[in-house]
Amino acid sequence: MHELIIIGGGPAGLAATVYAARKQLKTLLVSVDIGGQMSLTLGIENYLGYQFIEGPELIDKFQTQVSQFPIDQKIGDAILINKLADAKNLSIFTEHQTEKVEGEVFVNGVLIKDLKSSESKRLAVTGIFIEIGLMPNSEAVKGLIELNKWGEVPVTCACETTIPGLYAAGDVTNIPEKQIIVAAGEGAKAALQAHRYLQRLVT
Ligand SMILES: Cc1cc2nc3c(=O)[nH]c(=O)nc-3n(C[C@H](O)[C@H](O)[C@H](O)COP(=O)(O)OP(=O)(O)OC[C@H]3O[C@@H](n4cnc5c(N)ncnc54)[C@H](O)[C@@H]3O)c2cc1C
Repeated sequence: MHELIIIGGGPAGLAATVYAARKQLKTLLVSVDIGGQMSLTLGIENYLGYQFIEGPELIDKFQTQVSQFPIDQKIGDAILINKLADAKNLSIFTEHQTEKVEGEVFVNGVLIKDLKSSESKRLAVTGIFIEIGLMPNSEAVKGLIELNKWGEVPVTCACETTIPGLYAAGDVTNIPEKQIIVAAGEGAKAALQAHRYLQRLVT
């Protein structure tokens, strides 16, 4: 039985996990991946303590810190990627960067660059779905919480949602600054609030 479930393994979720574990809450971290949008970031120059650090390296450091605590983790990405890899009508390009979208009135192609070989290639496509973190990933709580017009989860300055015991932090919320350091700070706040909430329940 877990006292706290943290959904999401980005900076907000990982910071929340560290704070929850330090408060000795029985914590379950459920996430599609570890690192979130940081895995898409080639260079980070605005995270305190590092003048420059690559996204994957910062993820490793976060993960090492999280791993020192006895929390349960359920990661879904491998399962999802395996499922996708089985699909016959799908090509997956990892470690590629989108360089250019081509077309006049309609899209007819996209140039992508292999980050390992630096080679570019053109894919003939007629449609593109851009999913690089600008849309709040609030699908899971749609219908449970009233989202704002941008699809963000409205929270108080204490990371409270409209549901007691349900806290939200990071880019998915209406906090305006979508940055790693902000998400991590908000995650820490959310975990401390959850701890306070649980303490109130038992006293
Ligand atoms: C290309 C790029 C470059 C960036 N550069 C910088 C930078 O230089 N400096 C900076 O400070 N910020 C940068 N950012 C922004 C920064 O990455 C985000 O603000 C930060 O990652 C937000 O953290 P988060 O934990 O709130 O969300 P995310 O990082 O989005 O993490 C969300 C987590 O939730 C998981 N998840 C989502 N839905 C579900 C679900 N239904 N079930 C389980 N798990 C789920 C995801 O797998 C992920 O682990 C950049 C973002 C991008 C896209």
